[in-house]
Parts: sequence; C-alpha cells; structure tokens
Amino acid sequence: MRTPLPPLLSFSTPKKIMTLILKQKKLTWWQKLYVPEILRGMLITGRHLVKNLANPSRMKTFAWPEVKKPIDEGYRSEHRLMLRDDDTVRCTACMLCATACPAKCIHITAGEGDHPEAEKFATAYTIDMLRCIYCGFCVEACPCDAIRMDTQKPVEANYKREDFIKDIYYLTHNHGDKSPYSIARYP
Ligand code: SF4
Ligand code: SF4
Repeated sequence: MRTPLPPLLSFSTPKKIMTLILKQKKLTWWQKLYVPEILRGMLITGRHLVKNLANPSRMKTFAWPEVKKPIDEGYRSEHRLMLRDDDTVRCTACMLCATACPAKCIHITAGEGDHPEAEKFATAYTIDMLRCIYCGFCVEACPCDAIRMDTQKPVEANYKREDFIKDIYYLTHNHGDKSPYSIARYP
C-alpha cells in the first residue's frame, strides 16, 4: 500500500502576540506651569557659563574659526604634490594614482622632459575634490612619493563648484608650514 505524501502547505496556529500598553505619565500642575523648569534649565546653563568664565582652559568648546581644533597626524586631508630638491614636480605622470582612484577624480596630462630622474612629467594635474572620497588610494599607489594627504586641511566649503577643482599650481603650493621637498619612502 502506498504511503500518503506529506501536505505541500502546512498551517500552524498563529502565536499569541503580547501587547504592552504604556500609560502616559500625567504632568503635575507644577510641571504644567513650565516656568519653573525653564528657570531650572537657565540655572544649569548659567552655572556652566560662570564655571567656564572662571576657568577657560577647562572649556570643552573651541573658539572656531579663530582657534582650530587640532587634527591627528594620520588624518587624510587635502592633497599636495611634492617637489624634488631642484623645485621640479616629483610626479612622473605614471597614472597609477588616477588608475587606483575609485572616484575617477584625478586627471593628469603627461609631457616629455629632460630631467635626469624622469623622462616624463605632469604638465597638468587636477583633482575634483567634490568627487574625492578621501580614501588615500592615490597616495598608496604612487611609487615615488609625489602625492601626500598630510596637509591637515579638512574638506573646505566653497561657493562655486569650480573652486573644488584643484590644479597643479594649487597642489604644488598646498604645503602650509610643511616642507614641499619629499624624502622618498622607497629610495
Ligand atoms: S583620496 Fe581616493 S578618491 Fe580622492 S583622489 Fe585619492 S584615490 Fe581618488
Ligand atoms: S602622483 Fe605618483 S602615482 Fe600619480 S601620476 Fe604622479 S607619480 Fe604617478
């Protein structure tokens, strides 16, 4: 005798769902006045104000933009192009950074040169900072330490889109108080 096949669909009885009804706490007439609570809040604010004025060094806030918040050394910030000791641009237009860039925001034009260290150099080098995701892949890909992201300048605000396109002139002068001359990481 053939054994009956199991049913294709099986229905189980739905489990009971627990519902928790929370009752809203009623405000007392004193709380409904609101004014005492406002005064209490102002008292706390005033207490912090007096404490900070008495001891400004303990203040948790910065007087930005006059005082800038310190940025960690390893923070990936705006790019700069490094120079050789003879003030020529270290970039050899090998395109490795542009190839590694996931945002495709680096555009380089190569030119021929007669420098003893490289026969090619970048005649144009632009980074579209609106597309850049600050991943640092370009820095990692560069074989001659020509590009760095150690300016400690975070994403800046601008009024025009064109101001976010950083050209070779900007990038080779974007050194702040750091040296524009590089010590190659891979001598
Ligand atoms: S930081 Fe990343 S996204 Fe920005 S230019 Fe370099 S590789 Fe491209
Ligand atoms: S910055 Fe470095 S990786 Fe990019 S093109 Fe110049 S030499 Fe090559």
